[in-house]
Amino acid sequence: MRLVLFCIYSIIDYMILDGKKARESLSQRLEKRLENLGFKPKLVIFQIGNDEQSSLYIEKKKQFAKKIGVEVECNRLANDISTEEVISEIKKANIDQSTQGIIVQLPVPKHLDTTDVIEAISPQKDADGLTSHNLKLLWEGSSKAIVPATALGIFTLLDFYGIDVSGKHVGVIGRSSLVGKPTALLALKKNATVTVCHSKTKDLDSLLPTFDILISATGYPGLVTVKSVRKGQTVIDVGISVDYQNGERAVSGDVDFSVVQPIVENISPVPGGVGPMTVYSLFENLINLSEDS
Ligand code: NAD
Repeated sequence: MRLVLFCIYSIIDYMILDGKKARESLSQRLEKRLENLGFKPKLVIFQIGNDEQSSLYIEKKKQFAKKIGVEVECNRLANDISTEEVISEIKKANIDQSTQGIIVQLPVPKHLDTTDVIEAISPQKDADGLTSHNLKLLWEGSSKAIVPATALGIFTLLDFYGIDVSGKHVGVIGRSSLVGKPTALLALKKNATVTVCHSKTKDLDSLLPTFDILISATGYPGLVTVKSVRKGQTVIDVGISVDYQNGERAVSGDVDFSVVQPIVENISPVPGGVGPMTVYSLFENLINLSEDS
């Protein structure tokens, strides 16, 4: 499949890095590993409150889990629950032997301490790789790290399309603990030269075209546009901004796709780029944890 895609895209002068296609093709790997595992692993998702976007993302995770044969249990907790009560629920899942992975759907309501909530997850069940234990391993460049799903999904997508990162100048826009920082660390682990930009970075427009691989994770639609890119670049759009126009849900990324796509060499769309790969990587993490359990 990869060879066929490579041959097709060699003929035309740009590639759309299609996350749905990549995931479809790579899913067989996960299914094989699940077969060898000999049991059906379970992922427990804690959803706090009833945020509509969160429910949608959880639904996508459930759909993919069903497709590959993984059990997902969603525990919905009240919007006004205390940090202590959430931690107590997570601790129950930590000791439940039928559970191999636990995630908390982010963001959580503002009154909760996100760090304390995440830290309550046992590192051995931390399928999102967000506990300090796993982030430290990633910081150290250890192969034992469970890598946050979005960062892992980005590099799995690049690898699927044969885009080598080693020695390249990778620029990440965004420095969050959830996306920007883990993405920069993983790029470093893959021997890229890494620049991290953020909302206080000066003169972004002259910096962005210097990157070989530009990864934008801000949630600021239209940030990456004609003047941010150059011929030969790979652009990965992580951003997701949701807008409702006349009752219709419209999703856009950080990249002004229609004007950037004709210039660059490779580009991931929104939707259908990094999103499906994030879901894939979450379940790859779960299988890694299950194999070690
Ligand atoms: P965040 O709000 O925590 O961080 C945003 C980052 O962008 C910050 O570090 C900020 O400094 C930077 N930023 C904001 N505006 C900027 C600007 N004008 N110029 C330069 N930098 C700017 O968000 P996050 O959790 O890191 O998520 C980032 C985006 O990625 C969001 O749109 C989110 O919905 C999306 N996301 C997508 C996936 C996926 O699977 N595709 C997964 C997680 C998050």
